[in-house]
Amino acid sequence: MEQPLHVAPGRDIHLADFDPDFHDGLDRDQAEAETRRHCEKLDELAYRLFAEAKRAVVVVLQGIDTSGKDGTIRMLASGISPQCLDVKSFKAPSALELSHDFLWRVHAAIPAHGRIGIFNRSHYEDVVVVRVRKLVPQPVWQERYAQINAFEKLLHDGGLTFVKCFLHIGKKEQRQRLEDRLRDPKKQWKLGPDDLEDRKRWDEFQKAYDDALTLCNTDYAPWHIVPADKKWYRNLVVARLVRETLERLEPRFPPFDPSLIAKLDSNASPHRPHGSM
Ligand code: ADP
Repeated sequence: MEQPLHVAPGRDIHLADFDPDFHDGLDRDQAEAETRRHCEKLDELAYRLFAEAKRAVVVVLQGIDTSGKDGTIRMLASGISPQCLDVKSFKAPSALELSHDFLWRVHAAIPAHGRIGIFNRSHYEDVVVVRVRKLVPQPVWQERYAQINAFEKLLHDGGLTFVKCFLHIGKKEQRQRLEDRLRDPKKQWKLGPDDLEDRKRWDEFQKAYDDALTLCNTDYAPWHIVPADKKWYRNLVVARLVRETLERLEPRFPPFDPSLIAKLDSNASPHRPHGSM
């Protein structure tokens, strides 16, 4: 069975049409071995992007609570040197953030040229949780799809490549993960009352995501619907997507200046030794 990761821009996306448990017939060992291979390659590609310092990449991770955003970040960070990486989590906005437009804090977190950013949640919260919890009036969030597309186009034209991943888990799998968190003392801290409240609005969240994925799925910043019930398959898909993205960019080391070789042992030091005056 095949399942597309990506839907052509302009076509409606319905999450209900995508199987969150899809794993392409692979088993865990196969997937983990493949993921490791992608991660090794990622490290080298990220290093080249860093050395080139002309373009940047941002991996946007969205999904409902427990969909595996933290685990995906752990996997990517295991493959990329921290000097090339910026990880940013977007929580409920602070008073300062709320006193600006909704994209202000996002723009400030965009990685500089040469770097890879990972967004744990993003500006898509402003058309999903904000809509479901009715934090702003409908005409305000309704305008935001076009505003997000314009923002992403601006960044794309400036040399930023988006890898937007929706981590798609099923309702049954979410229940299991919430139960695990409730029972495991090492995970209980991750749960807040909002998480259980949000679960009651499952259908509203799915609808809000259908709209965000459909309306903000562009040629320059497409969405990928990552089957995420199996953590090992989710990791494989995201690692492969990021690797393929970097390979397409073909980052290159800056040209070498051969005159530097002669300068290594040259006596003609540009620095005057101390006390020579
Ligand atoms: P996470 O669930 O990502 O591990 P938290 O438990 O701290 O981290 O949850 C962050 C919360 O902040 C989520 O409920 C998310 O929906 C919320 N949030 C993020 N961005 C916004 C926003 N722009 N407006 C309102 N709530 C937001």
